[in-house]
Amino acid sequence: MNSPAIDVLVVGFGIAGLSAAVTAHQTGARVTVLERAPMEERGGNTRYTESFWRMKNADQVSDDFEDRFAANAGGWPDPGILRDLVRDRENQPAVLRSLGTVDPSLIATIAEDAPKALKWLESFGVTFDFLPLYFLSQSTTRMGPIGGGLALVEALGAYIDKHADEIEVLYETSARELLIDNAGAVIGVMAMGRGNKPLEIRARNVVLASGGFEGNPEMLSHYVGPQAQFIRPVSRGGHYNRGEGVRMALSAGAAPCGDFGSFHAQPVDPRSADIEPVVLNYSYGVLVNDEGRRFTDEGPAMVDATYEVVTRLIMGQRHGIAYAVFDAGLDDVENWQVTVRSREAPLQADTLEELAQAMEIEPRELIGTIDAYNAACPTSGAFDFMQPDGLATEGLEPRKSNWARPIVKPPFRAWPIICSNCFTFGGVKVDDNARVINTEGDTIPGLYAAGEVVGLYYRVYTGATSVMRGAVTGRLAGADAARRRNTAG
Ligand SMILES: Cc1cc2nc3c(=O)[nH]c(=O)nc-3n(C[C@H](O)[C@H](O)[C@H](O)COP(=O)(O)OP(=O)(O)OC[C@H]3O[C@@H](n4cnc5c(N)ncnc54)[C@H](O)[C@@H]3O)c2cc1C
Repeated sequence: MNSPAIDVLVVGFGIAGLSAAVTAHQTGARVTVLERAPMEERGGNTRYTESFWRMKNADQVSDDFEDRFAANAGGWPDPGILRDLVRDRENQPAVLRSLGTVDPSLIATIAEDAPKALKWLESFGVTFDFLPLYFLSQSTTRMGPIGGGLALVEALGAYIDKHADEIEVLYETSARELLIDNAGAVIGVMAMGRGNKPLEIRARNVVLASGGFEGNPEMLSHYVGPQAQFIRPVSRGGHYNRGEGVRMALSAGAAPCGDFGSFHAQPVDPRSADIEPVVLNYSYGVLVNDEGRRFTDEGPAMVDATYEVVTRLIMGQRHGIAYAVFDAGLDDVENWQVTVRSREAPLQADTLEELAQAMEIEPRELIGTIDAYNAACPTSGAFDFMQPDGLATEGLEPRKSNWARPIVKPPFRAWPIICSNCFTFGGVKVDDNARVINTEGDTIPGLYAAGEVVGLYYRVYTGATSVMRGAVTGRLAGADAARRRNTAG
């Protein structure tokens, strides 16, 4: 296929690709979409997410939105550079325009455009609300679409299906390489269809919306470390994201952005085949590794704000596994069941010795750990599972800062927990129209990035912001690419 009639070629069918494709079409462009998955599994990670948005209401992002991004920026950035970074992009020196860092301008754009994206999605019949999730209480505010990410894929997918004569979708077709002309403009892609069939697809603009590299063991080993290839995607959709979008952009000279050595870590039950089988009750018990030893403060603050750091520590334990251990007191936590998405029954026993055997841990080690913990628990103070209650251990290393109550009363229960990969952080730098910026600080004509391909996070994920990143950057890319379709870019 060699079709210069394509204005906007979108790679990927998740929230970012769909937002780009539909917006470009609404702006008058002829659009083609490439999707690695077959039609019945289209939608990448978006298909499986509950898709919470860090919003205070439909018109505003959460109060802590920009502060959390700043707090999660990672490292100790040079204050002189930070001062320059808040200047308009045009007034920044080229070396800063291409700097891989949390970009205040992009965060501000997402904060401003998220409500518009939400309302735009509602125009396709999706309803957003304050929905229950797997935290009993939260440190921020979140809204989500009824029906989760699947509802977004279905609503925008229905628009695309309805306009099939104008929006072509090539399923089971993966983009591999960018086509670039002598003037440095992107003019299409080389793709691979079923049966190892190469395709050259020409287009005036390309939007890379193909997710991160959570489904690519080679890139995970390379960037995140050798153990990362054994950390499974949190759901099936991640397996489709093999990093070609990020790699193609970098090969074209894009400035890297986002934390290439990291990913959004979630604590899941290794025995479960469910989507996102999180185990998030551990702050009411203790966490031990497979040697029966504690290794972290299980309750430093609200679990929704701290689980990622704890999960990374689980990843670092021998065999990458830990166990959350409880006694009957877990049942004092009203509705604790919502915090465990795994449907696998916990290991259970009437004595700690039997529980240790079920966990395949040396009983003396587990009993010694629990005895030491019990002796350090406070003897007074009110337990409050809805907020940090200050019930902290004394003289124990590591300390447990909240919800510390002795583990004494049978039945004893334990859930195994491993670290899973929701999505990778390494991506590329874009401007306020989602145009890809090269390492010299200039935009690459004809090239856009959206969603996970856009680097935004460092070390700690600012929760409930990835779907909105996809919707906002996808819409920006689709609109700008459609507007520029008759120009050289
Ligand atoms: C279980 C789960 C829960 C989550 N919960 C939340 C949440 O509550 N809030 C939140 O903000 N985020 C959440 N996330 C993260 C969020 O869902 C994703 O980061 C976001 O949906 C990514 O959107 P995307 O369009 O960038 O990528 P995706 O939705 O992953 O789409 C990428 C698309 O590209 C296709 N593709 C990949 N490579 C190629 C190629 N070479 N050629 C052609 N097609 C290709 C894939 O098949 C897929 O269709 C969650 C994720 C998961 C899995």
